[in-house]
Amino acid sequence: MSSTVRSVYVHAPFCARSCTYCDFAVSVRRSGDLEGWLEALRGEWDLVAREGLFRVADRLDTLYVGGGTPSLLGRDAMAGLRDLVGDERLRDPALEWTAEANPESLTDEVAAGWAEAGVNRVSLGAQTFHEDALRWMGRLHGPEGPGRAVRAARSAGIDNVSVDLIFGLPRALGRSWTDDLGRALDLEVPHVSLYGLTVEPETPLGRAVREGREPPVDEERYREEFLVAAEVLAEAGYRHYEVSNFARPGAEARHNAVYWRGIAYLGLGNGAHSYAPPVRRWNTRSWERYREEATAGRSPEESREIVDADAARLEESWLGLRTREGIEAPPPGSSAARVTDRWIADGLAVAEDGRIRLTPEGWLLLDALALELADS
Ligand code: SF4
Repeated sequence: MSSTVRSVYVHAPFCARSCTYCDFAVSVRRSGDLEGWLEALRGEWDLVAREGLFRVADRLDTLYVGGGTPSLLGRDAMAGLRDLVGDERLRDPALEWTAEANPESLTDEVAAGWAEAGVNRVSLGAQTFHEDALRWMGRLHGPEGPGRAVRAARSAGIDNVSVDLIFGLPRALGRSWTDDLGRALDLEVPHVSLYGLTVEPETPLGRAVREGREPPVDEERYREEFLVAAEVLAEAGYRHYEVSNFARPGAEARHNAVYWRGIAYLGLGNGAHSYAPPVRRWNTRSWERYREEATAGRSPEESREIVDADAARLEESWLGLRTREGIEAPPPGSSAARVTDRWIADGLAVAEDGRIRLTPEGWLLLDALALELADS
């Protein structure tokens, strides 16, 4: 039986340089291989139609182009994608079409080309406005880059911009988190996403930490900065609607909500995941292999799993706890209710309208709390 999907993710794997902490599926090159990318996506798109596990709806609700650095693919990338997906499917006035961008490559020209193709939301990888921190991370833009890129998006008519910020950077960099939050607020964008620095073993940062050239993540700083951001952004009128996401009213990202609600979606590109309940599958992470397979009309799938009832229950509770909607309150007197009562007493959760939702303190312990609830 096929799952009808109204949300599609497309991975654009190219980056001009590899950031020291990054373990995403990226291919480092001076500019993106637009032709090769579109050709490979076309191969996978046709294959998906033949396989029949997914049926792409006649009208999409959301299209999300992530990376990598989609803006490295230039102004024509989104028009190419529009040709692939089909005008008809992208015609709904309520369509949310997001593309990720890095400040150095979201030029006026790129933003204009994207807007023309139909992109109406940009997610910008600002991360920090602190020069030394940007260099340490291996980013290519300077402190003024995010402001310039936001202006480029706006002059193209894309006002719905989200800015990504990273927290938990090493103390020795001298980066002020509150200054960065202030600079992000000055941009007056409707959406902010936060990412905590994590040290993945197979990255330059992971090796540096292993060899003692860099300190491990400072857990206390990580915690403090997350809580400060939650407070500062809430005071500035942003709603903390998911563990990592803050939005002005009505600017909540709709694409990610599909993942959080366990709704079917199709992912195209190397490393992309797709979900046709109960099947979750993912593609090879290697761009070269993906390109070879998909272009030749062969499946780039690396593996798949069946999400069984137990795993689905755990996922549902973990996904629910990520969001401000939380989960349904367990029946009074049950062992699950004893767990959530303790969370409430410890300030990790609140009960509201028959639901339990985590506080920022609780979100810092999200994985452990979801497991505790599942085991209760
Ligand atoms: S720009 Fe993003 S995807 Fe590319 S290397 Fe840096 S963190 Fe990774």
